Amino acid sequence: MRKKIVAGNWKMNLDYNEGLALFSEISNMVKDELTGKQQAVICSPFIHLHALVQLGKGNDRISVGAQNAHQMEAGAYTGEVSAKMIKSVGAEYVILGHSERRQYFGESNELLAKKTDTALANGLKPIFCIGETLEERNSEVHFNVVKDQLADGLFHLDEEQFAKIVIAYEPVWAIGTGLTATSDQAQEIHAFIRKEIAARYGEEVAEDTTILYGGSCNAKNAPDLFAKTDIDGGLIGGASLKSRDFVDILKVFN
Ligand code: PEP
Repeated sequence: MRKKIVAGNWKMNLDYNEGLALFSEISNMVKDELTGKQQAVICSPFIHLHALVQLGKGNDRISVGAQNAHQMEAGAYTGEVSAKMIKSVGAEYVILGHSERRQYFGESNELLAKKTDTALANGLKPIFCIGETLEERNSEVHFNVVKDQLADGLFHLDEEQFAKIVIAYEPVWAIGTGLTATSDQAQEIHAFIRKEIAARYGEEVAEDTTILYGGSCNAKNAPDLFAKTDIDGGLIGGASLKSRDFVDILKVFN
């Protein structure tokens, strides 16, 4: 059975104390209210990571991740944070290739392939984001876009490495816009992603790969989305900033 995950992406929100307070609330609610095998992951800004890992100790249902990591191991890259540093504070996951990184920081599939290698070499589990823009969906090239993102960003990995990857399908037009892909639209492309993985790594690996949906996912639309065979959870932006909203999304898997 593949892992069910609901990951929160706090983006560039919450100061240090606000972040710790929100994490504590979520951690307590997760402990009290979750009854299934679902995993909560909080992807915070770098400054929170160490403290969140400490706060989460003793609660196996919650993990901590970063939102980015540099592709190089170390060196003269002023202002950057390495995968080794992230791992050294006890974080487990790292989001790579979020559409905001692709759009505002020019991250290409080729760069993301390098970031993935470095993250894996340092023991982090990448949450690798893929998804098409509105223009690409309207011109009906979304399957090709996603196919290329997988092939160029991930399919150089061997099977053992690929087993550590979580994929997040996030249509760019649905992120932070209030527009959600319908559950049928999401299922259609998740099934396509799984088929591509099966073609590269075989059925068994494809069946074991966790594929999250992201894009204005909330407690109202999550039940419909998560009921689909190929949707294994969510990557949540806005709704991850409120403990009740975020935990209600997790509770869909109870
Ligand atoms: C995201 O940032 O990955 C995201 C899905 O954001 P939102 O839930 O706010 O659309």
